[in-house]
Amino acid sequence: MSKVFVIDTEKRPLNPIHPAQARQLLRNKKAGVFRNFPFTIILKESLSDSSVSPLKLKLDPGAKTTGIALVNDITGEVVFAAELKHRGFVIRDALTSRRQLRRSRRNRKTRYRKPRFLNRTRPEGWLAPSLQSRIDNIKTWVKKLCRFAPIEAISQELVRFDMQLMRHPNIEGKEYQQGTLAGYETREFLLEKWNRQCAYCGAKDVPLQIEHIHPRARGGSNSITNLTLSCSKCNTKKGTKDIKDFLKKDPSRLEKILKQAKRPLADTAAVNTTRFALLDVLKATGLPVETGSGGLTKFNRSQQNLAKSHWIDAACVGKLTASLNIKGIKPLLITASGHGSRQSCRTDKYGFPSRYVPRFKFVNGFQTGDIVKAVVTNGKKIGEYVGRIAVRTTGSFNISTKNGLVQGISHKYCKGIHRKDGYSYGAN
Ligand SMILES: [Zn+2]
Repeated sequence: MSKVFVIDTEKRPLNPIHPAQARQLLRNKKAGVFRNFPFTIILKESLSDSSVSPLKLKLDPGAKTTGIALVNDITGEVVFAAELKHRGFVIRDALTSRRQLRRSRRNRKTRYRKPRFLNRTRPEGWLAPSLQSRIDNIKTWVKKLCRFAPIEAISQELVRFDMQLMRHPNIEGKEYQQGTLAGYETREFLLEKWNRQCAYCGAKDVPLQIEHIHPRARGGSNSITNLTLSCSKCNTKKGTKDIKDFLKKDPSRLEKILKQAKRPLADTAAVNTTRFALLDVLKATGLPVETGSGGLTKFNRSQQNLAKSHWIDAACVGKLTASLNIKGIKPLLITASGHGSRQSCRTDKYGFPSRYVPRFKFVNGFQTGDIVKAVVTNGKKIGEYVGRIAVRTTGSFNISTKNGLVQGISHKYCKGIHRKDGYSYGAN
């Protein structure tokens, strides 16, 4: 069960509790709602003993979605999970559109100065804005969760394969097929490197076996550069023959295999700059950061017999000390939606100004994007509405509810549920 975050009167995080317990505290007025996303309550009386059991924050950063899980390392219980959807492509498209507008402006006959060029420098560690935004999103949520839960360590999936482990795979025969972690990672790596097909006949979608290019019987090593994949037919046919004899009739394939085998490891390891930049950000929190490989995550997940999803992958990152308990967990779905533009004048489809954006964002304490609950007790629109508002300077707001847009609701009826924070919650 996803638990509810609790903070004490001094806003220090306590152990997350069961939702039923939280409901009881709220009903008895011993606590109040502090935040709706993620759901957090604040106690009204200070506790005498407040020993907390530390949690580990686990992250599986992805290009589109990042999985987040809070795990109790001792019991293996997953306390909270979330999936954070990034805005990457939205940012790229917005920047492309801006660039095109500026280019077309420069081409018009309005030149009053020489064009500038090469006058921009990029600071060290610069990342494309769409990538930077991913890191910033994760940083925001790590900080947020650290405020609400007793987090004392972080785990991050850093690389796809653990090269150190594979460089000297001290394992034999059967272990390559399954079993140990090194064998598992080696197999995953080879599948990737050899394109998930038999190196000798190109067969796909068949069970593949790990093959020594130079046979063990003839002194071939166990090193990863001497391994490939083959279907069982080719494997039997090749037996202990030397590869040069085996592929005598197909010299082009022989050359291809020998070349591919020698390709350096780092080349195929897909070192990801974003993930390393994220690691620096996580280290800056001051908490101990553990890193794991994608192979390890997958190994853990298959050992625990869990289905694949972003938050489960996150829970499986790094070394597991206890078997995971994910019963009843429903991840909080978070979508990064940005904070809007700085445009102060909207244009119509011809590019002419159509509406000026008011200079002040706040109207009667609300701003566009806040989630509110409005209980209207008077007039034509009697009822209860929950949703995001669009403010008007008149103080009469529009609320977009689940059942559509409701216009003209006075601010007097509105009660804030969640302030606009650049994220939307729930089903996508
Ligand atoms: Zn084959």
